[in-house]
Amino acid sequence: MKIILIGIQGAGKSTQGNLLSKKINIPYLSTGHIFRELAKEHTKLGRYIKEVMNAGYLIPDKKTLAIVEEYLSRSRYQKGYILDGFPRTLVQVEAFKNDIDKVIYLRVSDKEALWRLSYRNGEVREDDTLSAIKKRIELFHKLIEPVLSCYREKGKLIEIDGEKSIEEINREIMHNIGKHS
Ligand code: AMP
Repeated sequence: MKIILIGIQGAGKSTQGNLLSKKINIPYLSTGHIFRELAKEHTKLGRYIKEVMNAGYLIPDKKTLAIVEEYLSRSRYQKGYILDGFPRTLVQVEAFKNDIDKVIYLRVSDKEALWRLSYRNGEVREDDTLSAIKKRIELFHKLIEPVLSCYREKGKLIEIDGEKSIEEINREIMHNIGKHS
């Protein structure tokens, strides 16, 4: 099964993605995580990615597509995956030829996302300055609406209230993809 998770930063995509991955035994892959790892490398690409991410911008579509396609060609993703953070633009949707089963949109308000990010526990991300977060939220809405419309038209979009409890959201996702907890 191939699942895409969409949501603003702070919507709980990685919590839900990891939980779902354990429950249905399908690997979870986050493009944000891939890019954060690449940004640590002391290479030209690493430095470039770090700069773009820390400013709150998206990595250009062409680079993103090449990196995601290389990951998804690896053997562990051949039976399916839960993909978090991609596709994020209409260009990425149109260029991405893999047949997706379901697209889950975790909807939370900007206010809730900002609150959650300000009180995020654990690891402090280098790309998490307030101005980068605000820029990402603004950009997210602008770019994601056409992506959501596209998957809605294809009948693949599942919209879930991301402000419910972790367990309730997981139950709803499981129900919507035809699995039982
Ligand atoms: P995330 O953890 O999903 O919020 O991603 C963190 C950052 O990684 C984003 O702000 C972008 O700079 C970059 N990124 C992640 N996924 C994508 C994507 N599909 N296209 C372009 N940039 C991305």
